[in-house]
Amino acid sequence: MIKKFLKRVFGKPAKIKSAGNARVVPFELHDVAREQISYGAKKVTDGLQAAGYQAYVVGGAVRDLLLKRTPKDFDVATDATPEEVRRVFRRSRIIGRRFRLVHVMFGEEVVEVSTFRSMIEAEDAQTDEHGRLLRDNQFGDQEQDAARRDFTANALFYDPSTQEIYDYHGGYADTRNRLLRMIGDPVVRYREDPVRMVRAVRLSAKLGMQIDAATAAPIGGMKDLLDNVPQARLLDEVLKMLLSGHSVECIQQLRKMNLHNGLLPLLDVILEQPMGEKFVMLALRNTDERLSQEKTVSPAFLFAALLWHEVLAAWNLRVQQGERPVGAMHAAMDEVLGKQKEQLAIPHRHDAVMKEIWLLQQRFEQRAGQRPFRLLEQPRFRAGFDFLLLRCASGEVDDELGLWWDEFQDASDERRAEMLQPEQAGDKKRRRRKPRKKPEATAAGEPVA
Ligand code: ATP
Ligand code: MG
Repeated sequence: MIKKFLKRVFGKPAKIKSAGNARVVPFELHDVAREQISYGAKKVTDGLQAAGYQAYVVGGAVRDLLLKRTPKDFDVATDATPEEVRRVFRRSRIIGRRFRLVHVMFGEEVVEVSTFRSMIEAEDAQTDEHGRLLRDNQFGDQEQDAARRDFTANALFYDPSTQEIYDYHGGYADTRNRLLRMIGDPVVRYREDPVRMVRAVRLSAKLGMQIDAATAAPIGGMKDLLDNVPQARLLDEVLKMLLSGHSVECIQQLRKMNLHNGLLPLLDVILEQPMGEKFVMLALRNTDERLSQEKTVSPAFLFAALLWHEVLAAWNLRVQQGERPVGAMHAAMDEVLGKQKEQLAIPHRHDAVMKEIWLLQQRFEQRAGQRPFRLLEQPRFRAGFDFLLLRCASGEVDDELGLWWDEFQDASDERRAEMLQPEQAGDKKRRRRKPRKKPEATAAGEPVA
C-alpha cells in the first residue's frame, strides 16, 4: 500500500502503453496482483512461458478480478498447440472434439487451457442458413483470439509474470465503467451464436453491468434465432442463470429484454399463473440467498419448484375427477415430467429427487400416529421441509403447517406426544374394513416374489 502510494507521488505516473494493436495496462492502474491468480493458473502460465510460449489468464477471471469479485475458475490462453501443452504438463489431457482444449490437473483444481483461436474469414465460415457459426476451430494469434470472444470485458488477457493486462477492444475501460459491450457488430455476432443474447442478460444481471445500447438494441427482434439452438445448450445457459446467485435479477432482465417467452417453456407456463409466479420467485430468491451464504443448492430442488404448480394443477384435476389422492399424484408427476421433457430437456437424472420432494408434500399433512416419525426419517426430509416452507410463504398452504413441522423436528418426546393430532376415526375404520389378504405362499413361510 505505502510503496504504491509513494510510487504514485514520487515515481513516474503509470501509463497505458501500446503493443501492436493492444493497449497494455500496467498493474499500478488496474491493481490485479499475481497473488490473486489461482495456484494452478500461475503454474500453467509460468510453465508455458518457461517453455517459450505465450500464456495468459483470460476471459471471465480477469473481468471478475477487475470487478473485485472472486472468479469461479481460471482459464488460460496460449499460442502452444494442445499437443505442445500436453508435453509441458504431464498431468493433463486433451478434451473436446469441435475445438480441442487441454485440462491441466493440480489436485482439486483443473485449469482449462485453450490455444488462440481465429475467427474464420467470411468466405470460409461454415454457417447454417441463419448465419449461425457451425465451426470456429482455426488456430490464430492473440489479437484474433480477442476478436472472436463475445464482450469486450471478456477479451482481456492478464500476464501473471508482468502483471499487465492486454486489451484490444477497450474492455478495460468498459469493465471499469461496468458496461457490457459486444465486440464487433452485435447483429452479426448474435446471428453467429444466438446464445450470446442470453449471455448478455446473465452476465449483466450477475455482475451488475449495464448492457451497452447498441448491444441491447437488436436482442428483442432477434430472439427467434434461439429456436435453432440445440436444447441442451439452452438448458445449460438457463441453469447457469438459475444457479448464478442472481436468478431473480436474471429473470427481471430477461423480461426487460423480452426474452422470457419462448426461451424457457416451463417459465412461460408458470409465470402466467399468479400463485405459480409468487412461488417460483420465492424459490429463486431462496436459491440466491443460499448461494450467497455458500450453501449448496440442488438443481433438482429448483426444477421441482419450477414445475410444482403444474403438478398441483394436474393433481387437482384428477382428484376432482374422482381419482385417489396418492395415485393422482403419481399420475400428475409423470404427466408433467413427460411434457416438460419434450419442451426443455430437463435431464432424467433429476426425476427421482423431484418426485421424492413432491410426494413428501402430501405426507406433511398427516400429523397423527406414527406417520410424522416415519417422515422425519426420510433421507429427503430436509429438502421436503424446505419445499413446504416455500409453499407456506407463497400462501399455498397455511403457515401453521410449516410452523408445526419446524417445532416437531426438534421437540422433546413429551412435547412431540402433545403435538400429535388425534387419529381420525375414519382412518382406522377404513383399515379394519380392508384387512390385508394373506397370500397362501406366506403361510408356508416362503417369501412372496
Ligand atoms: P462465468 O463467470 O459465468 O464463467 P465466463 O465469461 O467466464 O462467465 P464462460 O462460459 O466460462 O463464461 O466462457 C469463458 C470465455 O469464453 C468468456 O469470457 C468469453 O471470452 C468466451 N466465450 C464464452 N462463450 C462465448 C460465446 N458464445 N461467444 C464468444 N465467446 C464466448
Ligand atoms: Mg468462466
